[in-house]
Amino acid sequence: VRSALEAALADCDAQVASLLAQYDEVVAASRDSNADDEHDPEGATIAFERQQVVALLAQARASREAAVRALAQLDAGTYGVCERCGQPIAAARLEARPTARTCLACASLR
Ligand SMILES: [Zn+2]
Repeated sequence: VRSALEAALADCDAQVASLLAQYDEVVAASRDSNADDEHDPEGATIAFERQQVVALLAQARASREAAVRALAQLDAGTYGVCERCGQPIAAARLEARPTARTCLACASLR
């Protein structure tokens, strides 16, 4: 489990780094074109691209935090315990989603 989480964490780090680079590119592109986001069709595309990168970045950061939290739980010995009902989370679920915080029953209640 630990190696899977550490691999996931490294993936997220790489993803965050590449998205940050993409974001810089998009920002640089919008500066170069000197486009007006509101009225220039190209500016609108750039604004859309920027929003997409920001959304992906937020997702990548959230997954990264989930992996960090799971590793901390592993250290504390609370990994694999459902946050809601306190029951152990099924191994198959943890295998599929190592950062799962609730058991399947609790997840399906939401
Ligand atoms: Zn539960």
